[in-house]
Amino acid sequence: MIIILKPEIDPSGTEIRNILDYLKQFPDIKSQISGIRGTSRVVTEIYLIGPTHDVPQEIIERMPGVERVVRVSSKYRQIGRHGGQLRGIGFEYNGIEFNQNAFHMFFGLCAVDTKEHVETIFRHLNAYGIKTARMGAYKPRTSPYDFQGHGRGCLNWLFELAGKYEIKVIAMEVLRPEHIEEIVEALKETGHPTGIMLQIGTRNAQNFELLKAVGSQTDFPVLYKRGMGLTIEESLNACEYIASEGNRNIVFCLRGVKSMMGLPHRNLIDFGQVPVIKRLTRLSVCVDPTHSVGSKDIAPDGIYDIFHAASQGVIAGANMLLVEFHPRPEKALCDGPQALTMKDMEHFIEDMRLVRNCYLERKALGERRLFQDLGPNA
Ligand code: PEP
Ligand code: MN
Repeated sequence: MIIILKPEIDPSGTEIRNILDYLKQFPDIKSQISGIRGTSRVVTEIYLIGPTHDVPQEIIERMPGVERVVRVSSKYRQIGRHGGQLRGIGFEYNGIEFNQNAFHMFFGLCAVDTKEHVETIFRHLNAYGIKTARMGAYKPRTSPYDFQGHGRGCLNWLFELAGKYEIKVIAMEVLRPEHIEEIVEALKETGHPTGIMLQIGTRNAQNFELLKAVGSQTDFPVLYKRGMGLTIEESLNACEYIASEGNRNIVFCLRGVKSMMGLPHRNLIDFGQVPVIKRLTRLSVCVDPTHSVGSKDIAPDGIYDIFHAASQGVIAGANMLLVEFHPRPEKALCDGPQALTMKDMEHFIEDMRLVRNCYLERKALGERRLFQDLGPNA
């Protein structure tokens, strides 16, 4: 059950205290209070966890400060929209807004290698006015003999360089809870020159202890990547582990699923599911065309398959793109063959702006048509 409070209600005010007092008569029910940032306002919600069937909805609905009470199904109850009853969850992190209407491009290295390569990427991003990046320091590799990432050793100089080029958020995968502590330590040592979005990679999509670890902290938002062999339902349930621990600042990322049906691409591209995730959940949606396609093949129209795949996600309303770039892909220590180069960056940005504008026009058309169908009193 979710109690949605009126927008003006102070999260530490008497109304909430009264509701919590009333709920004390249900000792098996745990309540969590959270501020949900919508597109135009912040709404406070109280989540009731436990056997809520005995809690009388009508009484709570009549209590001062309560706007609505929603009984949610047991499925991904915190991230779910529950048939459109709940608004999207937006959040602001380090000056950047994430919600189901936003659009951000996160470009960068699969694996951080040299200072020179990192600086080249950041310099280009800065020149294009982009404040978001991706940088892998901890790499989950198929073979134990492959490069595993520089780890803690690169964090201080990486963060300092990010600060120098005004990068506000870096998506960075973590493989175990200690990596979060290392990131906290490095940010502290360098004076917080940038922010981090903790990435849960596809290989850890059901690593429940790691999901709980990123969920039980609220310093950093989380980029959750769909499991490469998981259904949407399984991945959303896994993602719910993060929210149920208290952190709802989550972006859900589609990155393709493992299937021979996707050949010659590395994965079967699942970006048609962007609107599905937006409808089923309150989360913003990212697409990762790099790991979906996995090569730099070019179509007869002169456009890379990676660009085409990214477009499929963006035209369907994706809120974030995660794309690998490398100044010298032949020197990359991980995923070189699929990395776009600095030369490709401007073309890619221009292409994505075209597609994003097209999506915004499609959205406006959809809203106009819906309004017409519903009539002027809608
Ligand atoms: C990555 O984004 O660096 C990565 C390893 O992706 P995935 O977990 O989707 O394979
Ligand atoms: Mn990679």
